[in-house]
Amino acid sequence: MATLKTALVTGGGSGMGEAACHRLARDGMAVGVLDIDGPAAARVAAAIGEAGGRALAVTADISVRRQVKAAADQVRLAFGPITVLINNAAIESFTAFEDIDEDSWDRLMSVNLKGAYIVTQTVLADMTTAGWGRIVNISAIGAQSGATHMAHYTASKGGMIAMTKSLAIELGAQGVTVNSVSPGFILTPMSRRAIEANLFPVPAEQIYGGYPIPRLGQPEEIAAACAYFVSEEAGYVTGQVLAVNGGAYV
Ligand code: NAD
Repeated sequence: MATLKTALVTGGGSGMGEAACHRLARDGMAVGVLDIDGPAAARVAAAIGEAGGRALAVTADISVRRQVKAAADQVRLAFGPITVLINNAAIESFTAFEDIDEDSWDRLMSVNLKGAYIVTQTVLADMTTAGWGRIVNISAIGAQSGATHMAHYTASKGGMIAMTKSLAIELGAQGVTVNSVSPGFILTPMSRRAIEANLFPVPAEQIYGGYPIPRLGQPEEIAAACAYFVSEEAGYVTGQVLAVNGGAYV
């Protein structure tokens, strides 16, 4: 019989994080739904419960270590050691490079990159003690292809890919795999906000319409990639970046 596992998903209250929470719960995991937006996390955890799964909503800003520690402790108390982690929470910003101020640069790095470092450090001992762990870092297509007016965001996401590779090397012998899913243009509240505010250099349809698969991606398609990386079957896969982007570049 498969061991019961506990997963923590950051940014679990919306978009891809929400889809990942539902998917991992359906795959039999107990899920800590962590979000800075407490009511959003609570809504997702309640929906998982109604569907017959196990989930606990926890509120934390991933860039604040004591909040993350308190949230992780709540999840451990409810479900046991956290051996699956999806580092998904992030914020974005569209600003011409010369106008990116230091506060904005620091905030993006602090949430998107330092946040993943803090959350990973907070739960890693659970995995190394178990001799088994799965970490998935959500990067972004912009880290691989570049993106206009997103130098700070893409730099933070490039950091996620580099950290993935370094941690994979460091942790492989301890039974912990570390991989990255790099989403393309996925329909979520984040991308919807950007589309509605006309923040892309050309209309959104011109971007995704030119991909080999000419449509927006769905959050569930990112969740499926996460589900593979955290599965038992992916035990020999580490340090990889899976681009789920409709073939945006080939
Ligand atoms: P989203 O905005 O819909 O959801 C992000 C969630 O993270 C929100 O619930 C938000 O409250 C939470 N969050 C933000 N800051 C936080 C913090 N400091 N602490 C805890 N939680 C915090 O975004 P999404 O589109 O689902 O994005 C998910 C991931 O995918 C992000 O890492 C994003 O950068 C990445 N991504 C998105 C796209 C896209 O097209 N939507 C493309 C490439 C990469």
